[in-house]
Amino acid sequence: MGSIGIFNSTSNVILTVLSLILLFGACIYASVGTKLGRGVWLLFWGLAVEFVAVAISWQTMRLYSQGAPIEGWVFVELFFNLISMILLAMAASQILVNNIPDMPVISIFGAVGLIAIIYFIFISPDGYMVANMRQIFPITGFAYISVSFLSQIHQKHHGGFIFAGLVTTSVAVILALKMFGVEYFVSVAWYIPIVVYLLLSIALVMMKGDFYAKKWAESQLEIEKYNRRIEEIIKSSPFPIIISRLSDDRIILANTNAVKLFGIRQEELERYRLKDFFADSENRRLLNERLEQEREVQDFEVLVKTPSGDTPFWLLTSANIIDYNYDVALYAAFQDITSRKNREVLLKNQAIRDPLTSLFNRRYFEDEVYKRILASKAERQPYSVLMIDADHFKNVNDTYGHKTGDKVLIELASTCERALRDVDIVARYGGEEFVIYLAGVNAKKAKTVADRLRETISEIVVHSDEGDEVRFTVSIGISSFEVSDNIDTLIKTADEALYKAKENGRNRVEVFNKEELEAFDNKETQERIKNEVNNRHPIFDKEENEEISLLDGIEAKHIQSENPKIEDDSVLIGVDAEDLK
Ligand code: GH3
Ligand code: MG
Ligand code: MG
Repeated sequence: MGSIGIFNSTSNVILTVLSLILLFGACIYASVGTKLGRGVWLLFWGLAVEFVAVAISWQTMRLYSQGAPIEGWVFVELFFNLISMILLAMAASQILVNNIPDMPVISIFGAVGLIAIIYFIFISPDGYMVANMRQIFPITGFAYISVSFLSQIHQKHHGGFIFAGLVTTSVAVILALKMFGVEYFVSVAWYIPIVVYLLLSIALVMMKGDFYAKKWAESQLEIEKYNRRIEEIIKSSPFPIIISRLSDDRIILANTNAVKLFGIRQEELERYRLKDFFADSENRRLLNERLEQEREVQDFEVLVKTPSGDTPFWLLTSANIIDYNYDVALYAAFQDITSRKNREVLLKNQAIRDPLTSLFNRRYFEDEVYKRILASKAERQPYSVLMIDADHFKNVNDTYGHKTGDKVLIELASTCERALRDVDIVARYGGEEFVIYLAGVNAKKAKTVADRLRETISEIVVHSDEGDEVRFTVSIGISSFEVSDNIDTLIKTADEALYKAKENGRNRVEVFNKEELEAFDNKETQERIKNEVNNRHPIFDKEENEEISLLDGIEAKHIQSENPKIEDDSVLIGVDAEDLK
């Protein structure tokens, strides 16, 4: 497209070279971070080589006017024109099919052109043909490139390509007009390359913009596709799944299984927040904490409820933080584990409870009381242990049958449990024997409690299947912190007191006093208890010689105790609070 007029003035050359450098810069800009690089650079080098060809053409004309031989120069000029055309054709191919032809194809193409050039310059010199070739090569190059640019019109973001297409088409037209000898374009329009380079620079900048617009649209499409895929997965999942927005906790998607599980309707989904389904805020806080730390939680047990506030139920959840619908969201899949949880509770109860009376069993009692004694020692609180045994229970069985005997035991157990506070522990020790731990109660008060309990029990009437009224009594033995802080010793000494109660006529309460320790018949146990006395309740550590008065002090302290459980005036049904003081 170049006019040799460029080289008539130094300033023209400088301006043209500057605009070519600008185009170079635009090529760098357009190719960085985009996929446009190869096409853009082929175009640039095609134009640059064409510019060199024009410079050589100017030199050829100069030598020609001086009458010097010019075949060699003409050859070089045409060779450059040929290379320029090939580069532009490759750029066109790159733009059109995003690829360039293989090297052998390009080489054959080039070789044919080269043979024609050599033939018409050196073998059968033909000035007319040479002149035509000088015109046709650039026209062909620009025709290729303009068609390929314009062919991008079907693309969504094509502004830059179409602009470049119009520019290059104009160049092809100008070159054609020049070939047909339209005077104006032959020598005058030296500035045409400058204009073309500038316009192509603009086109390249536009192309880069188009590239980003296209990429953005593609990413939007990807997000859409991703969202739709998630929705499909969620809808077809056999598990209940919920997606909630992290910023405001609103539910944004829930499948049919989730909607059914939580007893809501699909249409009113947006009304709810995820927290509406949590029955335990602490449980929810823990889940959130784990998610914040790890962004993913597997098999986390959550206690949930329906918004109508029915009985809470257990679910197992696996939750992730995901990107959904341009939001950061929580994806939670659930599995109903209510029956599993119930089974767990049942198994746990089976392990610690007696099946007949539902009271705790002996093992649980011993484990629990061991811990409670440690705590009571630390808090300097008193405690007592009661052993209860039904009197002549064998007779009940013998007279009314084993079934009625069972009824009696059940009634006896529930009476004890009803009569005592939540802080006390009632357990079935075995057969018709029961054991009770009274928290915050010394032997004296325990005696009062036990007597009231004994009386309450003696008033129970159980009906046998035959309709007989069955009444019964119990004997109770008491031991307390004053005797020992060892659970085995407490039980044994309470049992000893119980034995005494039986001896003394039954239906009565006896307390094991620490003075009796000496006489306690089991020598081995006696030895051990002595050792324990040396290591006894901290209450005794205060003033060794004034144990009795100290105990009174403890009672006074206990009455004013800040411990609400112990001050609870439901200490014992049928026992006045005054009795305890
Ligand atoms: P004492 O006043 O000396 O305690 O006399 P007792 O008859 O209660 O004592 P003994 O130890 O001789 O008898 C206890 C009876 O309790 C014998 C046993 O069959 C009965 N027993 C133990 N466990 C159960 C039970 O689960 N159900 C029934 N119905 N009876 C039981
Ligand atoms: Mg017994
Ligand atoms: Mg008995």
